[in-house]
Amino acid sequence: MSVVPLVFELGAPGRRGATMPDMDVPAKSVADLLPEKFLRKTPAPLPEIGELELVRHFTHLSQRNFSVDSGFYPLGSCTMKYNPKINEDIASLDGFAKIHPAQDVSQIQGALELLYELEKILGEVTGMKRFTLQPAAGAHGEITGLMIIKKYHEKHQQSQRNIVLIPDGAHGTNPASASLANYETRELHSNKQGGVDVDHLREVLEQNKGKIAALMMTNPNTLGLFDENILEIARMVHEEGGQIYYDGANANAILGIVRPGDMGFDVVHLNLHKTCSTPHGGGGPGAGPIGVAEHLVEYLPGPLPEKLDDGTFDWKEPGPDSIGRVRANFGNFLVLVRAYTYLRFHGAEGLLHVSKSAVLNANYVMRALSDLYYLPFDRHCMHEFVFSASKQKTQNGVTATDIGKRLLDFGVHAPTVYFPLIVHEALMIEPTETESKEQLDEFIALMRQIADEAAHHPDLVTGAPHNSVVGRLDQTLAARKPKLKWAPAEQ
Ligand SMILES: *Cc1c(COP(=O)(O)O)cnc(C)c1O
Repeated sequence: MSVVPLVFELGAPGRRGATMPDMDVPAKSVADLLPEKFLRKTPAPLPEIGELELVRHFTHLSQRNFSVDSGFYPLGSCTMKYNPKINEDIASLDGFAKIHPAQDVSQIQGALELLYELEKILGEVTGMKRFTLQPAAGAHGEITGLMIIKKYHEKHQQSQRNIVLIPDGAHGTNPASASLANYETRELHSNKQGGVDVDHLREVLEQNKGKIAALMMTNPNTLGLFDENILEIARMVHEEGGQIYYDGANANAILGIVRPGDMGFDVVHLNLHKTCSTPHGGGGPGAGPIGVAEHLVEYLPGPLPEKLDDGTFDWKEPGPDSIGRVRANFGNFLVLVRAYTYLRFHGAEGLLHVSKSAVLNANYVMRALSDLYYLPFDRHCMHEFVFSASKQKTQNGVTATDIGKRLLDFGVHAPTVYFPLIVHEALMIEPTETESKEQLDEFIALMRQIADEAAHHPDLVTGAPHNSVVGRLDQTLAARKPKLKWAPAEQ
């Protein structure tokens, strides 16, 4: 019997083979840098377990998790589309996964080129002049965009503009970001078609002359409806001296069809983790780049990637009017790699197909169920739609939560419920373009079955879920008093 000698490439313990290019990293440990009085006297009491136990623990947890890879995930507003594995393959190439933000630009030319090209593609898709790729999520993009708008007004001696207008159906992050940016907010009513009530907008603009900083809007909005008055709305706000901000979380419906820049928007964020397929079920990591029209470019955070005359790439430091950095290093780089892969993989025609299919799928499901579930805004929808469980609630005491919980019994993720706030017992459903007709038909059959159960055996629905690992959790307690750290079991 011959023995095959094992040969290891020697590296630091635990990082075998993970060789890094030469770098000028100071050989000081944290302990060298901290004053003596802050150092631990005894080691931290960390749990000690073997690798196998660790692997089993996390594998077990991952099996309890629900993901797009394990089942249908129609969580409205979140665009839980399939994340093609080629994105992961590319993001895990050594040249992307093992570089370091402190490396000299001569060693990371490919990464810089990718960021430069990604920015160009995003500009083409949205009709904006330049993007910063720094923000790590949609909400982070919102605060960044509002800071840019604020700086713009300051530069134009308009610091008194302290009001941000937000439609009543908006995502919660919009008013939260506006408050964080120290703005007052005014809510705009929706009209009967589910869009912004233009008469109300006119009234609010009249009452707050010279005080409007911005309007934040998503189009299609959170009802999944396209606001056809957008050009008029943009004109009215601009005429009053305000800027308009596009919450691009719903961009999945419009890729290659219409561009926020052409609708009149001045600032746009995109949720790359949603639209450009990065796994984002557990809350991150994400990327919320923001693009701006030409008059706002000087306020963008920096540095921005730049192509030099000799064809190489470098970082360009921002000018004096930049709002400054909003994130360390250069954004969530590997999410940006995934987005770039996704966009290049599809190309312009592919993206058009993505959006058309997303819209078709949503309308198909909506029409197949609208005889059983109340549709408050009965129009063609875009990539998602909102039902109300009001019929089920008044007739049999079955709520949107109950319906969502019952879906879990069949391996389907619940839709978004109770949002947008303007629809009672809201069930917000976004099938996405990546689902097959067979899957959509299965979901339709399931929703019809649940409507039937609600009518004839309501206890089955109000008592759901029956088959999941855990039953109904105390959601308030989980949100208010989450257990976030490991604690040794009490003796
Ligand atoms: C998801 C979402 C956001 C926030 O994006 P995050 O990346 O979760 O911070 C904002 N607006 C809308 C409409 C969204 O769906």
